[in-house]
Amino acid sequence: MNSQRLYDISPVWVQNQLLSLYGANLKRRRYGGAYPALEREVFARDKLAPEETRDLAGQRLHRTLKLAQEQVPYYRRLFRELGVDARDIRQVEDLAGLPRLRRTDVQEHLQDFYIDGWSGLPHSMVKTSGTTGTGLVFPMTLRAEQEQWAVWWRYRGRFGVDRNTWYAHFYGRGIVPVEQGRPPFWRINRPGRQILFSGYHMKDAFMGAYVDELNRRRPPWIQGYPSLLSLLAGYMIEHGRTLDYQPIAVTLGAESLLPQQKGLIEKAFGIRCRQHYGTTEAVGNISECEAGRLHVDEDFGCLEFLPNGDGTHRVVATGYANDAFMLIRYELGDDVSLPVEGTACSCGRSGRIVEKIDGRIEDYVVTPGGVRIGRLDHIFKDMTSVREAQIFQADVSAIEIRVVPAAEYSDEDERQIIHATRQRLGPEIGICIKRVAELERSRTGKLRFVISRIPGGHGRLVGADRSTD
Ligand SMILES: [Zn+2]
Repeated sequence: MNSQRLYDISPVWVQNQLLSLYGANLKRRRYGGAYPALEREVFARDKLAPEETRDLAGQRLHRTLKLAQEQVPYYRRLFRELGVDARDIRQVEDLAGLPRLRRTDVQEHLQDFYIDGWSGLPHSMVKTSGTTGTGLVFPMTLRAEQEQWAVWWRYRGRFGVDRNTWYAHFYGRGIVPVEQGRPPFWRINRPGRQILFSGYHMKDAFMGAYVDELNRRRPPWIQGYPSLLSLLAGYMIEHGRTLDYQPIAVTLGAESLLPQQKGLIEKAFGIRCRQHYGTTEAVGNISECEAGRLHVDEDFGCLEFLPNGDGTHRVVATGYANDAFMLIRYELGDDVSLPVEGTACSCGRSGRIVEKIDGRIEDYVVTPGGVRIGRLDHIFKDMTSVREAQIFQADVSAIEIRVVPAAEYSDEDERQIIHATRQRLGPEIGICIKRVAELERSRTGKLRFVISRIPGGHGRLVGADRSTD
């Protein structure tokens, strides 16, 4: 019996204990040891003058490239072939001569991106699927993980919350068994100060219970995927439900934000919602400020914005933080719009400003029970034998999962995909897996992860911020 199954059949109070235990471990790892000193350093970097920020970014970029050339097999080979000496690279403009790196390139040569001696560094293994089902498994140093959390807390601190603030967290993972048909649709992680609300039970019949629980526990801070909070907000507005307290902050993550979602959420919660853009790979970050502008966290990773030709820019990243797994000019698959040149922000922070993060419209899968479910790319999180994947739904009773297999793909992978899908969608829906040579793309060549041909399946935006809690 696997641990998820064991969790699913446990009583709710045991599940709360298990989540709290897990939360305590995470807390120790993320915020123990060198974290407090690192946090002070990261918070102080928010106040650097423009030339100090530029100097810091240049130094970190130079160090990253040098280390990659000396100790990362993939880059050792690449730089030799190109005749490039990484020691000459001192600022972002110097990167232009290097090729861009696609996610599928990384998957194909995965081990060659691990730095020599990586297993000797304090690290954890990270699994990510991106938004296209291309799975990566890689080491992340403890220091990189801690620095990323410090950058995220720096952003959250702008809105009056810190690591001791209780919050309602609306997200997708399987914290409440999918078959469960009555409240509670939430669980508690006490050390992490989280009330975890299930994203898999958000249908109209259950939504009133979500609002009641928020009013009962009154968490000062609400956080979640825009696609989930907008479902709740839409319900509240439609049914005349309100919170009987005022949250101090509403923050959004893991997906970028559609204007109509923003409108619904702000109307329902009576407060401006805030967003940031992060990456599971810890290669870059963009955070909103008090004045409502999006600032590139220049101290954390090098983001390049390369013109697409239609006014938008593609985001390419070189991370500074993770010494165990370095990605240089890595294509994140997301686009941004930039403001008119010379635009400054009244908050006075140095570094570049982004006008908006342009995600992609992504559909939901609708279960036979009527629940709309997004973020299914998690299914492919630890599967390195899948090149790309896509979910197609033409009927509410079934889905088709299209898989572009890698050479080592096997029947066992197929069983795993079905199992992981069942955990999220429940036992009723039909699942068929189809192996294909390539996937259907949109007119602009972008891959849509979920394609829905049924009412209620359309319209959520993804692409930005794959960070998770
Ligand atoms: Zn600002």
